[in-house]
Amino acid sequence: MTIAPALTDPVVDELCQVVGSDQVLTDKPARFNRARVPAPFPVHRWSERVPDVVVLPGSTEEVAEIVRIANAHRIPVVPRDGGTGLTDGAVPLRGGIVVDVKRMNTIKEIDEVNRTCTVGTGINMLKLNEVLARYGLIYPDDPASYPCSLVGGRIGTSGWSLIGSRYGHTRDLVLSFDFVLPTGRVIHVGDGAGHKLSKSSSGYQLKHLFMGHQGTLGIATEATLKLFPKPEAELSPFFAFPDYDSAYRAVGELARAGVATFAGAVLFDEWKVDYLRRDDEAYIPQPADVRALVCAVAYGYEDEVIAGGRRLLRIAKENGGRYLGDEVSEGDWAARHDRYATPLHGRTRAGQVVPMSWHCEDAAINYSELPKVRLEWHEIVRKLRDRFDMFDDWGMFAYTSANTGVDYLTEIDVGIWEQRLDDASWAAWVQAKKDIAAVALRYGGSISACHGSCREGEVDLVPQELGGGYDVMLAVKRAVDPNNIMNPGKYGLDRAYEPDAGGVR
Ligand SMILES: Cc1cc2nc3c(=O)[nH]c(=O)nc-3n(C[C@H](O)[C@H](O)[C@H](O)COP(=O)(O)OP(=O)(O)OC[C@H]3O[C@@H](n4cnc5c(N)ncnc54)[C@H](O)[C@@H]3O)c2cc1C
Repeated sequence: MTIAPALTDPVVDELCQVVGSDQVLTDKPARFNRARVPAPFPVHRWSERVPDVVVLPGSTEEVAEIVRIANAHRIPVVPRDGGTGLTDGAVPLRGGIVVDVKRMNTIKEIDEVNRTCTVGTGINMLKLNEVLARYGLIYPDDPASYPCSLVGGRIGTSGWSLIGSRYGHTRDLVLSFDFVLPTGRVIHVGDGAGHKLSKSSSGYQLKHLFMGHQGTLGIATEATLKLFPKPEAELSPFFAFPDYDSAYRAVGELARAGVATFAGAVLFDEWKVDYLRRDDEAYIPQPADVRALVCAVAYGYEDEVIAGGRRLLRIAKENGGRYLGDEVSEGDWAARHDRYATPLHGRTRAGQVVPMSWHCEDAAINYSELPKVRLEWHEIVRKLRDRFDMFDDWGMFAYTSANTGVDYLTEIDVGIWEQRLDDASWAAWVQAKKDIAAVALRYGGSISACHGSCREGEVDLVPQELGGGYDVMLAVKRAVDPNNIMNPGKYGLDRAYEPDAGGVR
């Protein structure tokens, strides 16, 4: 196990002085449980990724003080919120201190006049929206991990929302936040210096720089969020199609229609429908003639949702879609936050049911490229499954990212029998992830629309994706975090500290 050499008892004592000894955890379960995230994991190497100590601060000042101590002693710091991130961001690669911000979960202000709220970044959207509902308001950041991911982790990953085609994604919804830099200095970033501004042209757009960095640049502690009227009506019709091609055409037409209440559309391919039907994973009836599915979602006032919904239904019908009825439509959409929380299993090639965990590759792909990417991705997983009978293809989703349907969060879900992983199968899996990422780049996409791309495998392709932008990332990392204490080892950023790292000129 990696032990940060400087993390000695006197340092633990210093941390105890900042937060109190009951908020400094050194026992094995507390540390091992913060070593992993719900993504396939080389279980045989678990002990390599365990923090030396977990600290639970209660305020921005405490976070700043912890980071100052870590920086003075050159100890790695890994920020952790819900621990649901799927790109290993919250997994400590070098031991050190996990700063778990879950105690910082209060609502500091609800400003009904400017339609904002200010919260500790340890709050989850479910709890926040329960309170906002009393004011007729909603914070519409709606990932599938809605009940368990937290505002700080949404900032750390620059998350993607299921209803982002109407309301925007995390980057649009977070107006500003307090941010502890790796030196322990606290800054406020937003549009300009504003706490509640949605648009400023003053200076660099630092808010975006300090989002999606996977905790490599610092820790967000308090955030001001944009609020909306709680929608009166929600429409989520599911349509069945006899084949992928007609479903693909329909999803494009739905997304391009310009319906104002359109909040998103989801395309399920044949592999996904087969998987859902195979073991009744969806807990909803799937008629046998259904080969592909499309769901279109509209949110807003009842009258506008009815009017927009009529148009969406007509478009789906004109493209060969058959409405699957209210029970399937409402039930499946309502289950969007629960699906992956259920115990998971997959099948071997011979059809034996075995325990498997879920892995999701999530590229951003233009609409025009979806069919080609889909076939290449399934082929990569098929070859992997042929070599190692511990992987299972759970099919693909494509979700709109914007209300024009320009690009889609394109996801292939792979089941992995984790307990069977060994070095050879892990290496093959890492290579498969690289191959999947390479296909996305070849078709002009991005490695990740949603989770980030810092996992073993796809992370090797990030310099290729970003080109000169990656050199700027290295320079920024070195300037902001001179001692490489903040989540070291992620995104290949260690190379920023090599003597020949070069500059950006
Ligand atoms: C079932 C399931 C469904 C999912 N669906 C979606 C989805 O629809 N959309 C989506 O975007 N994601 C989804 N995810 C992935 C995950 O929920 C998101 O990436 C989420 O944003 C992570 O939030 P978290 O609070 O769990 O963060 P964590 O996992 O704790 O952290 C994520 C990253 O952010 C960093 N970080 C954590 N807290 C802070 C902070 N306060 N300041 C700075 N950096 C910080 C961490 O170091 C890490 O690198 C899903 C995950 C699961 C398990």
